[in-house]
This record gives sequence, structure tokens and C-alpha cells, in this order.
Amino acid sequence: MSKNYSVVPYRNILVQYKGGGYDGCFWEWNYFIIDDLCEFHSIIASGRKGIEDRSEAMKLLTSHPEQGHGRQAYYTYPLTEEGLKEFAIESNASHVIAVASYLFEHYGIIVKTECEECGRTIDVLESCESNFRGYGGISYAAQDLICSDCEYEREFCQDCDEIMSFCMCHEWLDDEWLAGDEWDED
Ligand SMILES: [Zn+2]
Ligand SMILES: [Zn+2]
Repeated sequence: MSKNYSVVPYRNILVQYKGGGYDGCFWEWNYFIIDDLCEFHSIIASGRKGIEDRSEAMKLLTSHPEQGHGRQAYYTYPLTEEGLKEFAIESNASHVIAVASYLFEHYGIIVKTECEECGRTIDVLESCESNFRGYGGISYAAQDLICSDCEYEREFCQDCDEIMSFCMCHEWLDDEWLAGDEWDED
């Protein structure tokens, strides 16, 4: 019986592929999974290149066997702790959150990643989305996933324990620094 598994290679995998883009973007990463029942589920499918069904998914997976070379059209990650962690570390934070949310909601799978500051292993859905940056003033996307300790260090002044934007000593230190530079240049 277990022999049959080898003839079903596309199972328990997360697939990251180049889907269609949104306004002004040529393409963005899209995602689907083939679960343990060999069923196809789309997680993110954008634009005209988004894959919506199993036959399109199989077409992608079987038409590019040498995915490791050249301009590859997709990556696959096994739906295991290590496989998903690799995906989480290498991928855009907002996509990682979307995929982690889907996998937890539908399969109870917890996706882990590494804190971008200290490298500690953390659950994606318990991490603090950090470094928000705007894209064209329309939406905001998280750039880093960091642990709550590092989040605290970023948000609060280590000298006065005040939230950075309210901290007075921070500004004062900046001024002192500038003044010091000027003295040095003499
Ligand atoms: Zn950390
Ligand atoms: Zn301070």
C-alpha cells in the first residue's frame, strides 16, 4: 500500500507561483496547496494568471519539471514544520500571514518563522507585524515578522521606557550626537 505514495508526488505541498499582478504590478506571488487528500485549494490567486482549479494546478506542476533552474515559475514547500518555516522565512510577510491564517483555519497547521531581529523561532500568527510601509498610499503591508520582545524594544525607549514617539531623551540624544559631530569636524 505505501508504495502508492510514490506515484502521487503532488500531495501535502504548498505551491508558490507567479500569478497575475494588481494595478501597476507585472506579477505577484500566488499560492495554492494540494492537501493530504490530494485536493486542490487556492489561497491567493490574483489576476489573469491566478490558478483556480486542480487541472490548471497540475498543468503548472507537470509542465515545469526543472523548477530549480533558471527563471523558475514556482516553488513547492512540503506541508511540514520545516518546509513551512522555510517558506515563511523567505517570503513576503503579508503573504506569510495570509497563508498561515488559511492553514491554521482549515487544517490547524501552525506555521513558524524566525524573528527578523533575534532569530528566535516564533509562530507566525503570534508574531508582531512590524515595519509597516505604505504602497502607493492605498494599503499597508508588513515587512518583518518579529517576536514580542523585539517589538517592545522597537516601540519603547530603552532609557526612559516611554513609547518612542513620546520619548524626550531620544530627541535630546539625537541633538547631542549632531552637536558632537560638529565639534569633531573642527
Ligand atoms: Zn525577536
Ligand atoms: Zn527616552
